[in-house]
Amino acid sequence: MSSKVAVVAIGGNSLIKDKMHQSVRDQYIAARETCDHIVSMIKDGWNVAIGHGNGPQVGFILRRSELAAHELHEVPLEACVADTQGALGYALQQNLYNEFREWGLNKHAVTVVTQVEVAADDPAFQNPVKPIGSFMDKEQAMHRRQKRGWNVAEDAGRGWRRVVPSPLPIRIVEGEAIKALIRAGFVIITVGGGGIPVTADESGNLKGVAAVIDKDYASSLLATIIGAELFIITTGVEKVALNYRQPNETWLDHLTLAQAKQYLAEGIHFAQGSMGPKIQAIVNYLEQGGGEAIITSPNNLERALAGETGTRITL
Ligand code: ADP
Ligand code: MG
Repeated sequence: MSSKVAVVAIGGNSLIKDKMHQSVRDQYIAARETCDHIVSMIKDGWNVAIGHGNGPQVGFILRRSELAAHELHEVPLEACVADTQGALGYALQQNLYNEFREWGLNKHAVTVVTQVEVAADDPAFQNPVKPIGSFMDKEQAMHRRQKRGWNVAEDAGRGWRRVVPSPLPIRIVEGEAIKALIRAGFVIITVGGGGIPVTADESGNLKGVAAVIDKDYASSLLATIIGAELFIITTGVEKVALNYRQPNETWLDHLTLAQAKQYLAEGIHFAQGSMGPKIQAIVNYLEQGGGEAIITSPNNLERALAGETGTRITL
């Protein structure tokens, strides 16, 4: 069995094609397409650890929970993340199982429900900025702030939303299990939604916190701890651009680590909350001894691996 290991971080949005295709069944079908591309990597000898986003899926669970609040307990945010790890892990596992069968590959996929530790004194806890859940009017927002202690903020003129901290991942709690599974040749699905955020108390006991960890940062940490040669982030664009959506937009085939850091520092190229964290996650991975990284869309995965498209980031 080959020892080449790649982390593939897939966007939560890539499991939802459009507003008309959001059901669990639709997400399963979208997952199949992504699995198809990942299996082609596996056929080429890669062993793969899959990380995935969960923004839209957590939004659905929170909404369902809100609507049912007159009858049933609400679901805490960290439990929503755990729920999406299970459900999306299931969709990916079953698709991979069927693909492995179809191709006669002796491979097995398994999902690890993953806790990711964040620092209790991470400055993000003083500055919650990540919007989650449904839009509210101002009155509802103020009511929830008072009643439930939520932080709320106005979201780009579209209404009020709950905002939660987005602290940095410092440790993958199930890291040893993940390493053992990868070493044993399992395809693993882990750090879903960036992982279930937990903090440790003085004695080291863990507890879940109402926060959201960026899935690109968590996947970068995953790539570092398992010593992945390759870190791929699939998302809504085939390549990364400079001056994205500007008249002087330039699509990039290749970036060096130094260039990536310089463009990040310029602050205008990679939008915060979308491309910015991906580039930063890749910078972190390369600085921690990573091999190379690629950003592309799921259906261009094979071509990007062949060097025909995508944006490649290397030392
Ligand atoms: P994901 O769900 O995969 O994390 P995001 O929406 O968070 O996706 O981030 C990817 C998106 O970032 C792209 O689809 C694109 O619309 C946007 N984007 C922002 N800046 C850039 C850039 N410089 N080059 C390419 N895409 C960019
Ligand atoms: Mg994103």
